[in-house]
Amino acid sequence: MTSAGRFAPSPSGELHVGNLRTAVLAWLFARSTGRRFLLRVEDLDRARAGAEAAQLRDLVAIGVSWDGGVVRQTDREPLYTAAISRLESAGLSYECFCTRREIQEAPSAPHAPQGAYPGTCRNLSAAERDAKRAVRPAAIRLRADVAEATVDDVLHGSYTGVVDDFVLRRNDGVTAYNLAVVVDDAAQGVDQVVRGDDLLPSTPRQAYLASLLNIPVPEYAHVPLILNADGIRLAKRDGAVTLAELGRAGVSGEDVRDILLSSVGLPAGSLDHALAAFRPAMLPLQPWVWPGV
Ligand code: GLU
Repeated sequence: MTSAGRFAPSPSGELHVGNLRTAVLAWLFARSTGRRFLLRVEDLDRARAGAEAAQLRDLVAIGVSWDGGVVRQTDREPLYTAAISRLESAGLSYECFCTRREIQEAPSAPHAPQGAYPGTCRNLSAAERDAKRAVRPAAIRLRADVAEATVDDVLHGSYTGVVDDFVLRRNDGVTAYNLAVVVDDAAQGVDQVVRGDDLLPSTPRQAYLASLLNIPVPEYAHVPLILNADGIRLAKRDGAVTLAELGRAGVSGEDVRDILLSSVGLPAGSLDHALAAFRPAMLPLQPWVWPGV
């Protein structure tokens, strides 16, 4: 399988200019390194009717193209189940019956990093599990035997972050993002992950999980987010930030493409044209402030 990069939006609503900028950068990273570029719709959770079609339409409008068909996570449950079964057979998972509230209120384990699962259900006896199963369905957690892991990032260098017993499958049966993303990237031959740097803190967990599944860890590049004029992460409430809204204000998809390209110092006109000038090292690490229209 040839190597690939990807863009993996969650179809929870329309993409805003920050998501579109990440897509452009992921495309540039992949194409400038001779990789295929794949599109995966992460629709296990938070999918909204019509959002996928709008997202694909907007990507096309700014010139982002992808190879092959669109892959949807809801079509791939057997792959996730197989991975979870492998972990289970290796003794690397356990059932967890905690509610969110119980987790918040539990005393944290000694030396455990903040926000890490306190391990309440890690060592339940079979009888305790049976009793709890009668009350509520179990989530499946990873049995991690490290507390942190280090990843390399093209933009951030070496990054160390928390690895805890994170959820692989929620107690409503939905596969967790951290498991699905690792399994999908490997199955699709994705060896370059370019995405927003809000996901950098999850990356050590994902890289650790990949190592347990004997999956090669991809190259990571976590790109800066986009902020509003108040220095806060850009959101839908910040005026015209989706292509549809910008279109109503007279700003076309091509205009947005050019604004995004110039935000990273690239020439306007087309993504192919910008590609020739693109160097990952030229990317500013600071967030970019959306100039607004
Ligand atoms: N689906 C995730 C999001 O839209 C991105 C996942 C990823 O790129 O790994 O936030």
